[in-house]
Amino acid sequence: ALTDKLEAIFKKLKGKGILKEEDVDAALKEIRIALLEADVNFKVVKAFIERVRQKAVGKEILESLSPAQQVIKIVYEELCELLGGSTSKIKLSPNPPTIIMMVGLHGSGKTTTSAKLARLFKKQGRRPMLVAADLQRPAAIEQLVTLGKQIDVPVFHSYEIKDPRELCKDALKKAVIDRADPVIVDTAGRMHVDEELMRELQDVKNVLNPHEILFVADAMTGQDAVNIAKSFHEKIGIDGVILTKMDGDARGGAALSIKEVTGKPIKLIGTGEKIDAIDEFHPDRVANRILGMGDVLSLIEQAQKAYDMKEAEKLKAKIEKEEFTFDDLKDQIRKMRKMGPIENILSMLPGANKFLKNIKIDEKEFVKVEAIINSMTFEERKNPKIINASRRIRIAKGSGTTVTDVNRLIKQFHEMKKMMKQLKHGKGFKLPKIFPF
Ligand code: GDP
Ligand code: MG
Repeated sequence: ALTDKLEAIFKKLKGKGILKEEDVDAALKEIRIALLEADVNFKVVKAFIERVRQKAVGKEILESLSPAQQVIKIVYEELCELLGGSTSKIKLSPNPPTIIMMVGLHGSGKTTTSAKLARLFKKQGRRPMLVAADLQRPAAIEQLVTLGKQIDVPVFHSYEIKDPRELCKDALKKAVIDRADPVIVDTAGRMHVDEELMRELQDVKNVLNPHEILFVADAMTGQDAVNIAKSFHEKIGIDGVILTKMDGDARGGAALSIKEVTGKPIKLIGTGEKIDAIDEFHPDRVANRILGMGDVLSLIEQAQKAYDMKEAEKLKAKIEKEEFTFDDLKDQIRKMRKMGPIENILSMLPGANKFLKNIKIDEKEFVKVEAIINSMTFEERKNPKIINASRRIRIAKGSGTTVTDVNRLIKQFHEMKKMMKQLKHGKGFKLPKIFPF
């Protein structure tokens, strides 16, 4: 197994504190194979490995990890970061209707996914409309009409109109009259990327002026995923990706390839033929799957937990000595944001819990808090008492926030410290079992 090989490579290294170049390279050879086996495009693999190599060499090895695990951890984190996108939701226009154009090769799942999306929007209480703009075959129109009936969503279609541009113009008019929103346009595909298809899609795009162009891709697409995604992105310009057929055996290497060449987030995944088989994209899960090393990763997780406990002890000591500063707060927020959905981990935070609830569970707020802290001087972070009115104005300016924002953060920080003090004096101050930092 891969783990054994890696362990063998690193055996002689154990106990040394830093990852060395030749050892990282040896480990990355194995990672390279794992990625290729997952059908990540070879060029993408090469670039990825090189980046990881540069990151890994010289890195300190966590006490609780073996060097091999440390390399895998870095690879895993890099994968998650690469796969993750900050703007992964489908954005709706403030001026309805939002126009969503679905593009992709034949058989990738455009028609099915269009209907799945319509169903999701309908469930949110919106009034979606589907448009059958794949006029290549009558069967394509029928397919969408049937799906529309199933979910009770209107499907704009015509068996007479032969020009998709004309059809789309009519569809937009109808959408405005019906106050439909969003409008999801299913377009034609081909077995292979060709000029004619791209021209048709460009024409349709020009008529629609879509807010979102979603590239639908089959997760089973192998090495070709890069070229296909590249063509669509260069010729049409995509805003996001939906990866279908993730319920199959594919390890999902296409996700990495597509993300790497387009830089566009994977917004959703298709997980079956049924109309409700659509899911959020979780970078960590897919990274796991691409690496195909579930056992190793759970090992790392265990080790990480042990390490986290140590860090938690350090934090506890700081709180007890009343040395908790803005720098510590920033550090905690950093660590938390790395952990994924903030809602899930809020409950694990002692003391800070209330503080975090106050600043709303919103990624944007966290960015703001970090910006404010970054604009403080070293001295201010350590000793917030010195932050007077003129300093507050400076901090607000420097962080692109308002004095109100700064005031609120400082107030909350003081409240949090007060709470920490109470906790300290009460006998109830214990760190929870699963402590994220
Ligand atoms: P299009 O040519 O791009 O419009 O693709 P279709 O929507 O017609 O889908 C092609 C085939 O893939 C159909 O048989 C779908 O049922 C199937 N399909 C689409 N999405 C998924 C998915 O997420 N999982 C599975 N297992 N099958 C899917
Ligand atoms: Mg279709």
